[in-house]
Amino acid sequence: MPKHNPEQSMMNVKHEFGEHGGVVPSVERAATFTVVHPQTMPEIFAGEKGPSAGGCFLYSRHFNPTNDVLARSLAAMEGTERAVCTASGISAIASALSQICQVGDHIVASETIYGGTHALLGELFPTMGIETTFVDPTDVEAFRRATRPSTKVYYTEALGNPTLKVADVPALVELAHESGIKLVVDNTFTPMIISPAALGADVVVYSMTKYLNGASDIIGGAICGTEAFIGELMDLHTGRVMLLGPTIDPRVSFDVYQRLPHLGLRMREHSRRAAAIATRLFELGAPVTYPGLASHPGHAIFASMANEGCGFSGMLTLDCGTRARAEELMEILQNEERFGYLAVSLGAFDSLISCSGSSTSSEIPQQEQEKMGLSPGLLRISIGYTGPLEDRVAQIERAVIKVGLAR
Ligand code: PLP
Repeated sequence: MPKHNPEQSMMNVKHEFGEHGGVVPSVERAATFTVVHPQTMPEIFAGEKGPSAGGCFLYSRHFNPTNDVLARSLAAMEGTERAVCTASGISAIASALSQICQVGDHIVASETIYGGTHALLGELFPTMGIETTFVDPTDVEAFRRATRPSTKVYYTEALGNPTLKVADVPALVELAHESGIKLVVDNTFTPMIISPAALGADVVVYSMTKYLNGASDIIGGAICGTEAFIGELMDLHTGRVMLLGPTIDPRVSFDVYQRLPHLGLRMREHSRRAAAIATRLFELGAPVTYPGLASHPGHAIFASMANEGCGFSGMLTLDCGTRARAEELMEILQNEERFGYLAVSLGAFDSLISCSGSSTSSEIPQQEQEKMGLSPGLLRISIGYTGPLEDRVAQIERAVIKVGLAR
């Protein structure tokens, strides 16, 4: 299977100096740009000239130099021809999918995805004439069975939120491409670790709010794909990013760009610590799920897809059975042990803990939560890298023993 080296690929992007020779790029905050000659403006609108084609920048919803700098690095990281950044992960997903699907079209999607995306596909899109069938992401045949003549997209998260089911991206690529269907993968949980486009996926989407940013202080998103697809998204007449307008603030783009050089380092440390904690919990007999454990049903497929050296992600779950016990454990982890914070989101330097069924997956109807194996007591833990690892292991060990999840 082809492996991609995201860090090396990002090194090949031309370095962006600041306006005065600064080692970091300048932040271009202008909403609009001056053209020197009046005839240039209609030429830019007609698509005959642009920032890289004898023209100049025009308006920041269309092109912005700082947003472009970040997008170029993300495209290199993913190994795609081009990328565009958006104001949030959900706007990246909504824009990409609504660009591909029109009224009457159909999507086959993983049933274990972020609750907001589930609501977008299962509740909002049907009001716009786009239907979705949800299937188990580990069952490629289920995607085949659910496919209709009107199916335009297969949609999955590489590592599913929150159950940590692993999608077989190459198998889905093969199946999708048999029928001219596009595979769109949300890689929010596994940047650097899995490179879906290098495995054949057509479009990769991100919530940059999570690992890409890493500090829980911004909301942002990105779409990575071919030159043609990103061009469609930016089309003046029908482009979903252009016309729905989820434009990212250049100051936010700058902040994320500044954190990309250490994304690889961070992902390795998230993975190293999550692996150590998951291994200890497993030894204690606690109900832990982590794709790096040999006992995880998706372990082998994850290993076969993963790039060298970044591990198996910083995400693990603990199934406490009931919501009451999950809440008891969260209380101890935050307020007694100071292991991490009770907060939604993930990918931060601190550990973040939430009970998915009643929070970030609460949009998913109860019956469907049961079908996808989401227990009301499932704690999703995004493992951070603050504090000595031995202390973190000891903290969670004491906590799971105290609530009776291990002896
Ligand atoms: N994709 C995944 C896997 C997520 O977990 C989330 C948010 O939790 C999103 C997308 C949406 O991202 P945002 O909150 O940046 O819009």
